[in-house]
Amino acid sequence: MKQRTLKKSYSFSGKGLHTGKPVTMTVKPAPENTGIIFIRTDIDQRPVIEARASNVSKTDRSTTLCQDGFAVYTVEHILSALTGLGVDNAIIELDNIEVPIMDGSARKYAILMGKDGTVEQNAERRYINIDSPIEVKDPNGSYVRIEPAPRADYDVTIDFGSEVIGIQSAHWDPDVDYISQIAPCRTFCFFHEVEFLLANNLIKGGDIHNAIVIVEHPISEGQMGLAREKFEMPMLSVTPQGYLNNIKLHFPNECGRHKMLDLIGDLRLCGGFLNLCGGFLNAKVTAYKSGHTINTAAAKAIEKAIGLK
Ligand SMILES: [Zn+2]
Repeated sequence: MKQRTLKKSYSFSGKGLHTGKPVTMTVKPAPENTGIIFIRTDIDQRPVIEARASNVSKTDRSTTLCQDGFAVYTVEHILSALTGLGVDNAIIELDNIEVPIMDGSARKYAILMGKDGTVEQNAERRYINIDSPIEVKDPNGSYVRIEPAPRADYDVTIDFGSEVIGIQSAHWDPDVDYISQIAPCRTFCFFHEVEFLLANNLIKGGDIHNAIVIVEHPISEGQMGLAREKFEMPMLSVTPQGYLNNIKLHFPNECGRHKMLDLIGDLRLCGGFLNLCGGFLNAKVTAYKSGHTINTAAAKAIEKAIGLK
């Protein structure tokens, strides 16, 4: 298969999930063998940050890349969308440090860019193939296993010991329609994680519209009152399934599918060198209780296995 790029440029404005900073991101077509690169246009020298595993600098709750001292936060959803749409080459310009979170999913990216389709380029796509299985694990029982296969075949299972979400699985391969099945799936958090933010006035109206909120324990009337006020949602309550009704679920296993969205984005970092392209992995990937730390460790292990550093 030949390499592909976008037909035109697309701009997305919003704010960063973690920094709260306003940002406009413009995703542009790029010449063959560019791979995916970020450019910080808010900095005079317009530093380039290549989307590759060796540039991963932080993985707490999102994936941060850093090259020559210049960082980009929360790269995983746009990388996932470009991968799901089959884009080899793209230049992503940002006028701030973090990719906009949009609605917590890759929906808007995938719908807008997917509507126009992509353009074929002259060079052949450079797939990544591995010769033998690779496994990365952590002490909490999470793992990502990568096995040789003729094409991408990804499975994710999540288990937080939560009665609300239970054990959820999701699958992706090139026959699964990324735009409708994976891209709309939003990030999630637990209500007990936002309680502190609520009590300390660290969360504002609007901040809640880009996440599924899982309610594991009963919420007192006082807490609910505070949440209604801070989120500016007087009708806020808990659904019979145990989610806050700030948003409606797109799929019963939307949380599991979001973990797939993240996995696709994080694994795009393997082999994503400037002029080496790659990033499209032909492998069977089985991820259990995965997150950005173990996903990006897997991307690094793949680079090592194929002789890249
Ligand atoms: Zn995510």
